[in-house]
Amino acid sequence: MHVVIAGGGFAGLSAALYARLYGFDATIIEELAPGGRCLDTRHARFVPGLPVDAPASEVAERLETQVRDMGVVFMSDRVTHVHSDPGEPDTRVRIVCEQETLHADACIVAVGDARRTAGIPGEEALRGRGVSYCATCDGPLFRGRDVCVIGGGDSACDEALFLSDICQTVHVLCRSRDLTAMPALREEVQSRQNIRLHFNTEVRSFSGVENSMGFQTMESVHIRSGSEEHTIAAAAAFVFVGRQGISAGIADTCESDTDGRLITDARMRTSIERIYAIGSARSNPVPQFVVGAADGAIAVRDLYDRYTADA
Ligand SMILES: Cc1cc2nc3c(=O)[nH]c(=O)nc-3n(C[C@H](O)[C@H](O)[C@H](O)COP(=O)(O)OP(=O)(O)OC[C@H]3O[C@@H](n4cnc5c(N)ncnc54)[C@H](O)[C@@H]3O)c2cc1C
Repeated sequence: MHVVIAGGGFAGLSAALYARLYGFDATIIEELAPGGRCLDTRHARFVPGLPVDAPASEVAERLETQVRDMGVVFMSDRVTHVHSDPGEPDTRVRIVCEQETLHADACIVAVGDARRTAGIPGEEALRGRGVSYCATCDGPLFRGRDVCVIGGGDSACDEALFLSDICQTVHVLCRSRDLTAMPALREEVQSRQNIRLHFNTEVRSFSGVENSMGFQTMESVHIRSGSEEHTIAAAAAFVFVGRQGISAGIADTCESDTDGRLITDARMRTSIERIYAIGSARSNPVPQFVVGAADGAIAVRDLYDRYTADA
């Protein structure tokens, strides 16, 4: 039994580990670097048995080493299409990549998801010049400065905490009446002296100013709270307004939700035979590392139960 895993994030790596434990040949196809979101997240929080401040990149590194040591094959490529045709005699799933096409007995789609942009005037023009979608990557450039975080969910709160350690003031701008993150994150954000929370607040636009090199850099964020408009001086704005699925575009014959994620049953089967989806690639109400890892184990166990008898 040969399983191809599209995407080498926490979920994909975990699935590969279990695939080897069950005696399958396993290939991971990863377009960037194994680790996925772990590589641009500071801490892998809420992973049972790990300290809350476990560096996520170290967790990813350890998992990748474990998976490589188990004999999983890694391919560097971008999966563009996954298709299963039960009529094909020998190989039942076709995995089309940018550089080559693979055939396998099953494919586990673990491509994660993608950030949403907010569509705020000035966002596109100032992207990379103050507008960022990753505080862990770009936050250190704004050490000691005042910055804004747009959003109030888990990612926004997590990244606001990171920024509050290195920036002077972090303004968290939320459309809602309260933070929507899980309680542990909410309480930590509320306890930080240099985080200022702005609720019922709509971001109207981002403004830049030309620096000495002739480039636009961010200068301020314009907001509306109720009927009042204000301007906050900020060197950067970190946008965390949610994420959207990308897996539906890759396995387009499988059923998907309105968010672009594949729909699975409790055993991680999609609507198409031999195609599974796990982690943030599937319609999943708890997108956390531990759930992605569990999804991988469940998918592999189902493959073992269903297909090894006639393999
Ligand atoms: C800012 C932030 C902080 C978070 N903090 C935590 C936390 O502390 N604790 C926690 O439990 N969860 C946290 N999460 C959630 C966690 O990141 C996700 O649950 C987890 O990353 C999902 O793993 P995944 O493997 O499904 O997807 P990902 O980690 O997104 O991995 C998907 C992989 O697939 C690759 N890929 C994508 N498309 C293709 C393609 N077409 N071909 C080949 N490869 C492809 C990507 O490069 C990536 O490596 C956080 C999320 C964010 C955004």
